[in-house]
Amino acid sequence: MRAASRGSHAAPRRLRAPAGRSTAGRHSAATVAGGDGIAALGAVLRSVPGTPRQLVVTSVVFWAIAGGMFSGHEVAAHRHAVAAEARRHAVVAEQAQIASDDVHTLDRMADASRRHESARILVSNRQAMFDTAGRAQKVVLAASTLATGTVDAFDDPQLPADLPPDLAGLDEALARVRDALAAQDAVTARALVGDMEQRVLAAAQTHASTAAERIVTDVAVVPDDQHAVVVGDMVARVQQAAAVIDVVGAAQAAVSADGAATAVAQAASVERARVASSAATARSGVDRGAWGGNVNGKIPVSALSSPTFDPKVKLRDDAARALDRLNTAFRAKFGRDVVVGDSYRSLAAQFSTKEQRPTLAAAPGTSNHGWGLAVDLTGGIDDAASAQHRWMDAHAGEFGWVNPDWAKAERFEPWHWEYVG
Ligand SMILES: [Zn+2]
Repeated sequence: MRAASRGSHAAPRRLRAPAGRSTAGRHSAATVAGGDGIAALGAVLRSVPGTPRQLVVTSVVFWAIAGGMFSGHEVAAHRHAVAAEARRHAVVAEQAQIASDDVHTLDRMADASRRHESARILVSNRQAMFDTAGRAQKVVLAASTLATGTVDAFDDPQLPADLPPDLAGLDEALARVRDALAAQDAVTARALVGDMEQRVLAAAQTHASTAAERIVTDVAVVPDDQHAVVVGDMVARVQQAAAVIDVVGAAQAAVSADGAATAVAQAASVERARVASSAATARSGVDRGAWGGNVNGKIPVSALSSPTFDPKVKLRDDAARALDRLNTAFRAKFGRDVVVGDSYRSLAAQFSTKEQRPTLAAAPGTSNHGWGLAVDLTGGIDDAASAQHRWMDAHAGEFGWVNPDWAKAERFEPWHWEYVG
């Protein structure tokens, strides 16, 4: 069959179609069985799939080159050096990363710190502004209190139009504070308010000490007046409030001290008027009662007389006679004598009586008892509501005896009767 095939020139054309149909398989198998080694390696390599195949190729090439450059232990040493270098690079890279992270962290921290500080300053500044505005308002209220003299003037935060001399110019200072606050200048505003506070506190202290000075002479007149105690308390409170820069508290206490001092002055004024009136009454009594060149409370017993119904009673003679006539009429009405507790009173006795009854007895040397022209009656007449007293009111005057007006009002002494002739 081979000889027949080569012998024919037309065989390729003739055989091409049959070979394409029936002999192609046999021809291919013969070619592979007789091929070279590279093709076989290629086939092997192609049979290794994907990345592992490339790895194998790389390894083969690397070790082929390495094998050409180094021999034996040199290759092993180089491999160690390469590995060490790689590890060193890894460590350095890792440290660089860490360092980089640290830097970023520090940057972030610094940034946060800066932002925090800005926020803190802002908050602090806002708080300072707020505090300063509040303090300024307190100054206004305190100044208003001092200016108007009343602790009830806290509805209006405006300064009064006419400030007292010690607070003059406070309105201008307040305007500057408002400007500073509007300009966000807390430091200036705070300083200005501090000055205003000091001025108001000084004014409150002046008010308080003036109040304390005012009552010094008044207290001597009304030593038991409770308002004097209030003045003392309020002066102490002003000092305490000033120590802690409590301007409103200081102003309130100063105004209270002022009010209490005024009350003390009024009480002293009333007492002085009463004493003056009393003295005038006493003086008029002295003048009216003086007789026979005698000294009040130092009349010789021999110069005095007694009514017939009671020899212990000592009076000027005409007064004793008139009392006798009165007693006759009284006895006719009530069936008994008038009871006389006291009549002429010596100066020594008057001093003693004044000690025992300080608010009732007249000043020694001024009483009509000292002239032998007054009696103190008991036995019912000393009771203003009794029948005896009412009878005396209606009829004693017929005998020249009266219960004086002052004994019915200014001092209530229904028992005290004077001879007016
Ligand atoms: Zn009397």
